[in-house]
Amino acid sequence: MKIDLTGKTALVSGSTAGIGLAIAKGLAQSGASVIVNGRKQATVDKAIAAVRAAAPGAVVSGVAADVSTAEGCSALIAAAPSVDILINNAGIFEPKPFAEISDADWTRFFETNVMSGVRLSRAYLPAMLKTNWGRIVFISSESALHIPPEMIHYGFTKTAQLAVARGLAETTAGTGVTVNSVLPGPTLSDGVEEFLVAMAKDADIPVANMSATFVKLHRPTSLIQRFASVEEVANMVVYAASKEASATNGAALRVEGGIVRTIA
Ligand code: NAD
Repeated sequence: MKIDLTGKTALVSGSTAGIGLAIAKGLAQSGASVIVNGRKQATVDKAIAAVRAAAPGAVVSGVAADVSTAEGCSALIAAAPSVDILINNAGIFEPKPFAEISDADWTRFFETNVMSGVRLSRAYLPAMLKTNWGRIVFISSESALHIPPEMIHYGFTKTAQLAVARGLAETTAGTGVTVNSVLPGPTLSDGVEEFLVAMAKDADIPVANMSATFVKLHRPTSLIQRFASVEEVANMVVYAASKEASATNGAALRVEGGIVRTIA
């Protein structure tokens, strides 16, 4: 199989770092024209350069817009009015005891992790259905199935994404459009590296040992017994976005190293 996305335009929300940036690179390497997104123009410009370096000759552009607000989503949609592939990747995470999660925290997580994908999908899906081809991928998490007690507000948004993706997939029946979710497990993204540095400091453990300690303590059922790389996650997303994945629709695709023990 050779994935060839020549002629397709892909938008990856939250793609100036981490998993999103790896997805943008993977899509560009597969021939897609890629639009990256982040909140600041400087980081967007850096990401454009990084994607171009990873995929010489690729058509890459970017839009600075905050997708956690309706205004930011509208600005992004206005700057990129038509896309064939939408990757709803932007997302935030932060451990917090349940009793300390304020109403504002719940709303912020919902707006960023759920409503960004809702708003972007609402804008782009109708044209995909009209042209009879399109791909929408929601980057959910293994935390959608195993709600982490240390960040229930995060788990709630990741489960909500599965519901939205499955519901949208139902509306594509009989067309060439697919909507799927991808569920990464612990992945060494830029955001997670910061998270591990903070955890190592709190636990007084050397940073170099923190990812192994985290997997052992917090994800003991992991079969790979390590964090995934951002590229390992991006590979699954590029496949889900490909023409070759045409029989995969409404699915929750796991790339979580076997943490989730149930088969179905
Ligand atoms: P990260 O923090 O490394 O990168 C997130 C990116 O999103 C950055 O480019 C950031 O600038 C951008 N972003 C954040 N808020 C934004 C906003 N409001 N508007 C525009 N851009 C915004 O994160 P990551 O670890 O790569 O996570 C990416 C996605 O993968 C998230 O949805 C996360 O929930 C999911 N995920 C991550 C892991 C993991 O272990 N890293 C595991 C499962 C799921």
